This record gives sequence, C-alpha cells and structure tokens, in this order.
Amino acid sequence: MDLDFSEDEIRRYSRHILLADVGGIGQAKLKAAKVLVIGAGGLGSPLVLYLAAAGIGTIGIVDDDVVELSNLQRQVAHTTARIGVPKVASAAEAAHALNPGVTIEPHATRLTADNALDLIRRYDLVCDGTDNFATRFLVADACALARRTLVSAAVLRFEGQLSVFKPHEGGPCYRCLYAEAPPPGAVPTCSEAGVLGAVTGVMGTLQATEVLKEILGIGESLCGRLLIWDALATRFRTVKLRPDPHCALCSPEATIHDLSAHRDVAAPVCAV
Ligand SMILES: [Zn+2]
Repeated sequence: MDLDFSEDEIRRYSRHILLADVGGIGQAKLKAAKVLVIGAGGLGSPLVLYLAAAGIGTIGIVDDDVVELSNLQRQVAHTTARIGVPKVASAAEAAHALNPGVTIEPHATRLTADNALDLIRRYDLVCDGTDNFATRFLVADACALARRTLVSAAVLRFEGQLSVFKPHEGGPCYRCLYAEAPPPGAVPTCSEAGVLGAVTGVMGTLQATEVLKEILGIGESLCGRLLIWDALATRFRTVKLRPDPHCALCSPEATIHDLSAHRDVAAPVCAV
C-alpha cells in the first residue's frame, strides 16, 4: 500500500492520522478506495462532501438532474449560483473546492438496467441516495449481483433509515428487508410528502460514516441491522435484519440472476 503522503496531505488528514483506528495505513486505504454515490441530492450532498474531505481517492457520482431552486433547502453541495447546472458538475465543483486532491468521476446519466452493472463494477463500494423504489431495487440488485457492499440510506418527512447490505459476505440484502417494490404511488416520495432538510444532512453524514468504517474495517458494521431515526422524537433505534431463506435475490432459491426485470420499469431517477 502506498504510504507516501505529501506534507500537505499529512497536514490535511492529521486528525485522521492521529486516530489509532485510522492512522497512516487507514488514510492510505481511504486514498486507494473507489466509492460510487448514486444521487447528488440531499443524501448525496453530505456524502460527496465528507467522502472528499476524508480523502477517498476516487468518488463517482451518478445523477442526470440539474440543480433547481427547490433543491437548495437540503442539497447543500449545490449553490444558488449553480441553478441550472448538472448536479454531478455542481457536486464535483463543491468536492474539489474542499479537496482538490481527490478524483471525482461525474456520470451525468440515469442509472438503468443496461448501465448499472458496468458502472457499479468500477467501484469498491456503493451508496444509494435516491428517492424512488424503482431505482433503489435496481441498485440493490446490481450491487448483490456485482458483489459490492451497499450503504443505503432513505429519508422521508422527519424520519431516516440506514443499513449496510453485504449478501456476498453472508449478510441480508435489501430484498431480504423489502421483497418487492411497492406499486407506484403507494409510498410517497420526498417531492410528494416533503422532508425536513437537516434530516437528509444527518442521514447522509451517517451514511458517509458507515462508508468510511467499511473501507477502514473498523467498528461494528451496520450489516444485519437497520437504523431508524425519528427526528421529531429525537430517537434512534436499531432492528436486527436476517437473511431471508427464501429471498429472490440472495438465497439458494434466488430467481433474480440479472437486471432484465428492471428493463420495463420507467421510473424517474431523482435524488432526495
Ligand atoms: Zn436477500
């Protein structure tokens, strides 16, 4: 592993390097890591900023939207001056302003059944910050098939959820938790039901923390547990998740072996 840091890097990451669980070796792991962030919105904003600040060497960002005025109540990687700019370009600019030493790979495209596996295989770990079930299931299926760890967060109104899915290491997958996507319209999205902006900031920051833990291999993984945060009650709780022995994606009875089922789904891919 390349432990050759410049003087500026040693100064920039000194508060990491001081941590016994991180140190120079941990910082080198972060520098070598390639993380894909799907959705440059309310969750993606703190994710991209904290991953860039932490010195994740390569950060891919997938989003095909442009910055809109109604995004700025929560999507803090963007600015009023960048309304109309593609979100991947805006997020890349914010990340580079914070840390010019990291490589940002903007993918100004919609994640589809045709490009998901190819994109996901280029990275070590994937974070889902999207706002609709069709994309969440596509990401979850693609990550399981590509054997990539998925750090998944979701927010709605005043509540957030977070988990880590590693079916390739024996943990449950997203479909062990939710077998099927609810029919369109059954569960409201943030654009329909609203979300308190700061809630996305907290959940995206928790998500970034779990990404760093997974890369560093420290602490207790959130794999096999679902964190639920009720912001109004200021209450966190964690429920256990177990692999579903009949799961269509990760069990011996699996029926999902490719992404073909996602080809017929025409869903908007917007970040929270
Ligand atoms: Zn499963």
